[in-house]
This record gives sequence, C-alpha cells and structure tokens, in this order.
Amino acid sequence: ADEALRKSEKLAAAGRLAASIAHEINNPLEAVTNLLYLIHQEQKDSPAQPYVELAEAEVARISVITQQMLRFYKQSTRPARAEVCALLDSVLSLHERRAAMLQIDIDRRYCSEAPLFCFTGEMRQLFNNFIANAIDAMTPGGGKLVLRVQRVRQDAKTGLAGIRVTVADSGCGMSQETRRHIFEPFFTTKEDTGTGLGLWVSAEILAKHHGRLRLRSWERGAGTTHASQRGGTVFTMFLPERLEHELHGEPA
Ligand code: ADP
Repeated sequence: ADEALRKSEKLAAAGRLAASIAHEINNPLEAVTNLLYLIHQEQKDSPAQPYVELAEAEVARISVITQQMLRFYKQSTRPARAEVCALLDSVLSLHERRAAMLQIDIDRRYCSEAPLFCFTGEMRQLFNNFIANAIDAMTPGGGKLVLRVQRVRQDAKTGLAGIRVTVADSGCGMSQETRRHIFEPFFTTKEDTGTGLGLWVSAEILAKHHGRLRLRSWERGAGTTHASQRGGTVFTMFLPERLEHELHGEPA
C-alpha cells in the first residue's frame, strides 16, 4: 500500500509539472495556430498548402494534449449535488451520432435516482473518458455499450453507501500487458489519435472523490468460450456519497 501511495504521489507531482508546462506552451501554441491559419488563407494556391494543412493538424494535436492537462488541473469549481444518470446522458449525447454510425447499440440500465455530491465538470470528464474509450474499442465493427447506474447501500469493500457506475463494451479488450499500463500518463495503443491521458486523469478524478475502480477485460479471440472470443471491457466504479463538508474541506 505504501508503494502504491508513493507511486500515486509521484504521478500527481509529475502531473502538476506537466500541467505547468502545458500552461507555458499554450500561449505560443495559440500564436502558431493563428499564424498557420493566416498562411493557410493567404496561400490557398501554393504547392505548399498540403504541408500547411499537415502542420495545422499536428498543432491541433498538441493543443488537445495541453487542453486536456489544463482542464484537469485548473482550479475546480465548487462541488455540487448532481444526478449521475443525467450527467451520463449529457455525455452520451455527444457520442450518439458517432455510435449510431458505427452500429453501436447503447443500453442504459439506470436506477430511478442516483444523487451524488461531486465536482460535476470533472465527473462529466471522467464519464466521457470511459465512454469514448469504449466506443474506440468497438471501432470499426460496432457492438454493444452498456451503462449501468445503481444505488449501493453498503459497498462490499468500503461499507459505504454510494453510486455504482458500470461502463461495459464488447470491443477489442486489452492484453494483460496493456492493462498494466493504462493508468500511466501518455500510455496509449492508439498511435494516431490517442493522448494516453484519459485514464490517468480519470484515476485522479476518482481519487479526489474517494472513488474506487475495478477493471475486467478480455482480449478479442483470446478465450475459448464464445463470449471471451468476442472480447470486451468492463469498468466498474464506486462513488461514495460524501457529506458536503468532506468534499468542501479538500484542497481543490
Ligand atoms: P487514449 O484513449 O488516448 O489512448 P486512455 O488513457 O484513455 O488514453 O487509454 C489508454 C489505453 O487504454 C488506450 O490506448 C487503450 O489501449 C486502453 N483502453 C482504455 N479503455 C479501453 C477499452 N474500453 N477497451 C479497450 N482498451 C481500452
């Protein structure tokens, strides 16, 4: 446990450092983005136009990375009471079109009420990371995304009351080797599109809410039964109901 704590403190320190670097990079990056845009507009007939477009795409990618780091580390707003199912739905609405195009079937198994006192922006970001990853895992080829929300009176591990959220996909799954690294910053298996920050940020957001995460994953084609041949991943998180002063009392 000590080892795990040291590791997570190290990661948090690395994260703060990365965020301050991201902050420094952001202004010149914005300048470069604007300059590239001007060049793009001015040199529409230039043979160098494809290079300008490539440069724009690469700069946009850097931008995504710095934004992601900054969004997490910027001063949090005050925590508030939220409805977990509504938060999930607001995130889902961002992905519905893409999911439909990919023939991903979305199954919502919500309980009627799931109130949670939390940092809502970060909670939304957390859900977004899991849902985006699930959809990526089912691209192309489609599949099924199951979102389950349950109210738990007494969590088996912690004995606390809270909300359990499950995000399950029938996608490619992960190898054991991949599973070992997914919470490290910048670890990604998506060469062109990944930042490797999603799960790292998610773990930090969960820790801030005293939440717990469980992961099960089967690699596609790895098992002998029909289900395991198909592959898939299940993330289950438990978010304890906290007294308001507990979250308020925490440094943001
Ligand atoms: P990114 O999505 O940018 O790669 P993440 O930190 O969100 O960064 O995820 C890290 C890696 O974890 C992914 O590249 C992928 O290999 C693996 N992963 C995460 N979620 C899933 C999932 N639902 N199914 C399969 N692999 C996943």
